[in-house]
Amino acid sequence: MRIALIAHDRMKGRIVELAAKYREFLCSQQLWATATTGKLIATEIGLTITTLLSGPLGGDAQISALVAVGGIDLVVFLRDPHTAQPHEPDITALMRICDVHEVALATNPASAEQILASLSLAGRLE
Ligand code: PGA
Repeated sequence: MRIALIAHDRMKGRIVELAAKYREFLCSQQLWATATTGKLIATEIGLTITTLLSGPLGGDAQISALVAVGGIDLVVFLRDPHTAQPHEPDITALMRICDVHEVALATNPASAEQILASLSLAGRLE
């Protein structure tokens, strides 16, 4: 699967926790991430990730473009609902483009956990 990972600053610890928990599944997938999220996961968990620009510099828009052309199967986007983000229009656009193309999108740790747990279980049963 082709998976995009993004987390706002206050959620970066949570995405690293998720990546650690599902490392075995994720290490056999193709991963993309925005710059800071990707570097953190690569450094702390040792996963190989293609990093794009940082979110505020257009990384969310780059992921939207990949989703639009059918290049991503799942977006894990851990949003911080309590802090205004300077690139909110790009964030809204990414969520919209996932809905337009019916690409799975998890916007909080609980939904990300449900999706990753079922995918990794399915992978182990194959
Ligand atoms: P970052 O971007 O991973 O470079 O911090 C994420 C975002 O802010 O959307």
